[in-house]
Amino acid sequence: MKLVIIGGGASGMAAAVEAARTNGNIDVIIAERLDRPGKKILATGNGRCNFSNTNTSTDNYYGNDSNFTAWCLKRFTVNDTVNFFNQLGVFPKEEEKGKLYPFSGQASAVLDCLRNEVSRLGVDIVTGFYAKSVSIGKKSFKIQAADGRTLYADRLIIAGGGCASPALGSDGSCFEIMRALGHRVSELAPALVQMKTDPKEVRSLQGIKINGMLRLIQNDRFIAEDKGEILFTDYGISGPPVFQLSAKLPFKNNITASIDFMSEYSPKEIYDILEYRRDSLSHLTMENFFTGLLNKRIGNLIARRVGIEKLSFSVGGLDKQLLWSIVSLIKDYRLEIKGTKGFGNAQVTAGGVLTADFDDKTMGSKIVKGLYACGEVLDIYGDCGGYNLQWAWSSGRLAGMSAAESMM
Ligand SMILES: Cc1cc2nc3c(=O)[nH]c(=O)nc-3n(C[C@H](O)[C@H](O)[C@H](O)COP(=O)(O)OP(=O)(O)OC[C@H]3O[C@@H](n4cnc5c(N)ncnc54)[C@H](O)[C@@H]3O)c2cc1C
Repeated sequence: MKLVIIGGGASGMAAAVEAARTNGNIDVIIAERLDRPGKKILATGNGRCNFSNTNTSTDNYYGNDSNFTAWCLKRFTVNDTVNFFNQLGVFPKEEEKGKLYPFSGQASAVLDCLRNEVSRLGVDIVTGFYAKSVSIGKKSFKIQAADGRTLYADRLIIAGGGCASPALGSDGSCFEIMRALGHRVSELAPALVQMKTDPKEVRSLQGIKINGMLRLIQNDRFIAEDKGEILFTDYGISGPPVFQLSAKLPFKNNITASIDFMSEYSPKEIYDILEYRRDSLSHLTMENFFTGLLNKRIGNLIARRVGIEKLSFSVGGLDKQLLWSIVSLIKDYRLEIKGTKGFGNAQVTAGGVLTADFDDKTMGSKIVKGLYACGEVLDIYGDCGGYNLQWAWSSGRLAGMSAAESMM
């Protein structure tokens, strides 16, 4: 009997390994549209592959029903992932916030180990196979590729990912296949992605990196915060806290980012620092007031926002009210979020094939018998920090195991 897996990414390869290990009597075939499987894995974690996270829980996932992840993450846990890769040769290294990487620091190691195992197990990889449609025969699935090639399968796993970073293979084509098979697909949006602001607001700060606290606010209501290196660009903001908090952006409007440039200090402490500077540097003009405290360009922008248009303004003229206005901006510098850098730059897709139509114990479709799905094609995505790959491994292995068991 034959199991075909559409998509040779993280979840597809995990599914193939688990299926072949579970049932040695089936043919497992990966149908991958690119010229080789796992290209996206090479780009993960800035080329280091943050392959899991020791803090993983259902709280790290989003979707119409993020609890769908619970059983799967219990069946194939983070420890299972660590052991799985350790057995294949990837020695793990834990870094800050529970992030797991290969000790060698190379994403290629994760891909190489997976490819070695897939090959050891005799899994057939058909590359350049761009699946365009699936039809259901009496006993089998017929999978048609864009170039006219056809594959037949007794069981089918859809592991084609979402729409994020299409240059790495996942172009959303599997959503069309799933829709045609009767599955519902929720609204889609890019996540784990840079945020756009009014370019006029950030242009003068382009290239500056600061270590600060980023908060997201919706209609004056706090949503989430994260601390780290924030990079100002010509379109808006980037950097680890931006990617992290962008997980909260999909399907929300009226979002404002608030930057705290001196999160280690209370407003009163900053006031005292500024007052001391005003008194000891009273011979200076505003142009140099912030030098040594904040990046000069940030200082100039803050000065302008509090109404000091001329940098020739004497520091000695900073009264109590102006100092407090500066404190407020240092602690809460607001930028209206106008959108994101889109699917082309996103790490993951928010939304996807509705999990309500799948059995969380098997990853099997409740609509089409013998059909399974795993990874990002489903309406599940996770926080930044290894959670998305953990979902790919866990859901892929569960789908592969279930499909293979059903052919015993
Ligand atoms: C730049 C970048 C960095 C990232 N870093 C991390 C990280 O460090 N840690 C982390 O946890 N997550 C990270 N992610 C997210 C993570 O890579 C994905 O969530 C994960 O790869 C999803 O796995 P998947 O198997 O569902 O889909 P994918 O890995 O996208 O694989 C889908 C595969 O299916 C193929 N395919 C698609 N459509 C078809 C079709 N019609 N026919 C045949 N083949 C098809 C594609 O070519 C692709 O090979 C990152 C993502 C990006 C883009």
